[in-house]
Amino acid sequence: MSNPTNRRRFNLKIKRNNPWTPCWLPASLRDSLNNKHHSRDFNFARSDYLRSRTLFVGITFFLLAPLWIVVDYLLLPTEILGSLATSRFVLMGILAVIIFSARRNQHKINRIRNTLAALLIAPAAFYFALVLFYSDQMASLIGYNFIPLLIIVFLSVFPLTLVESFGIGLVVIIIQILALGHLNELSTPDSWQNLTLLVVVLAISLWANHSQVSTLLRLYRQASMDSLTGLLNRGVLLEQLHLLCKHRDQKLKEDALPAPISLVMFDLDKFKRINDTYGHSVGDKVLQQFAKILRDELRNNDLIARYGGEEFIAVLPETSKVDAYQIAERIRLACENLAVITHEGETVNFTTSIGITEIRLDESLNTALHRVDMRLYLAKHLGRNRYIDYDSPVEPKETYNYF
Ligand code: GH3
Ligand code: MG
Ligand code: MG
Repeated sequence: MSNPTNRRRFNLKIKRNNPWTPCWLPASLRDSLNNKHHSRDFNFARSDYLRSRTLFVGITFFLLAPLWIVVDYLLLPTEILGSLATSRFVLMGILAVIIFSARRNQHKINRIRNTLAALLIAPAAFYFALVLFYSDQMASLIGYNFIPLLIIVFLSVFPLTLVESFGIGLVVIIIQILALGHLNELSTPDSWQNLTLLVVVLAISLWANHSQVSTLLRLYRQASMDSLTGLLNRGVLLEQLHLLCKHRDQKLKEDALPAPISLVMFDLDKFKRINDTYGHSVGDKVLQQFAKILRDELRNNDLIARYGGEEFIAVLPETSKVDAYQIAERIRLACENLAVITHEGETVNFTTSIGITEIRLDESLNTALHRVDMRLYLAKHLGRNRYIDYDSPVEPKETYNYF
C-alpha cells in the first residue's frame, strides 16, 4: 500500500509491546490493568457483561429517580421540592439517553465503556449541581450526600479494567473535592474523613474489578482456547467471524463503506513426516512454535485460531488482500527461518502453505471460507511453502459446510 493514509488505516505494525503496560507487573495484573492485551473476541465478551450491567443499573437509577421524590416530600423543606423534582427529571432524561446508547451499542467495547462512565458520572454531576444551587441547605438534603460514595461502591459491580475504574473513580473524587471546596468545607476533619473513605472504597472497588476481569479472562480462556497452542478454537473463531461480518453488513446498510476483512489459512507442510520421524512431542512443539510465530507477526486485533490438527486460520479485520500478502509472506519466511530443537538436540525445520482471500461484500461467509480453503489446497498442489491468492484452475474439493 503506497498511500500513507491507507498504511495508517490498515496498520501492519505489530502492537504487542504496549508502553502503557509495564512489563514488570505480574501477568494477572497486566491482564486487568487495561484492555491493550485483550483480544478482540474477549472484548466482545466483556462488552456483553458491561452492557447488561449498564442496562440493569441504568434502569434501576431511572426507576429510583422519580420514586425518591416521595422520600424528598417526607424529609425535605417544601420550598426546594419543586426545583429538586425538575432536576430529577433532567437526570432521568440523561439516564434515558444512556440506556438507549447501551441498547444500541452491542459488542462495541469503547462505546459501552463510555456509556457506563456517563451512567456513573451523571449522578455525580447531579450531586454537584445540587451543591451549587442549594449550598446553604445541603445539611437538610438527606440522602444526597452519599451519592459520590454510592457511585464508587457501584464501580465494583462492573468488570472494568483498573485504568477504566480508576479513571471514573478519580472523576467522582474530583467532583467531591470541588463540591467540598464550594461549600468551604475542604479543610474540616469531616471532609477529610469523607475523602479518605472515598479513596479506601475506591481501592476496594479496584480489587473487585481486578478479581472480576481476571476470573472472566480465566473462564474465557478455558472455554475458547486450544490448550496446546493457546490460540482460539475453531468454534469461537467462527462465532467471532460471524459477528464481524454482521457488523460489516450493518455498516453497509448505513451506506458506509466497510473496511475489508481478509482471511488467511495455513497448513503445515508434510507434518505427518515430522511426527513419524521425531515423534508426537516434537510435532506438538512445532505446532506451539508456529502458534508463537502467528502471535508475534499478527496484531492483537486479529483473530487467530487452530482450525484443525495442523491447520490454522487468521482473520485480519481492516486489512486488504494486498496487506494480507505481506503478512503471509512474513509468516512463511519466519517458518522457513525457524529451527525447532528436539530433546536429542536435532534440528527440525518446517514450512507452511497459505491460502488468502478477502471476504467479498456480496457473499456468504461459507463461500469465503470455501475459497480460502481452495487456495490453500492449490498452494499444496503447486509445491507447498507458498501463499496463493487466486482461484484454482484445478477441480475444487467437495463443498463443505463450515458452521
Ligand atoms: P500436507 O503437506 O499435505 O499437509 O501433508 P501433512 O502430512 O501435513 O498432512 P496430513 O493432513 O496427512 O497430516 C496431518 C498430521 O497432523 C496428521 C496428524 O497425526 C497430525 N496431527 C494432528 N493434530 C496433531 C497434534 O495435536 N499434535 C501432533 N503432534 N500431530 C498432530
Ligand atoms: Mg499439513
Ligand atoms: Mg492438514
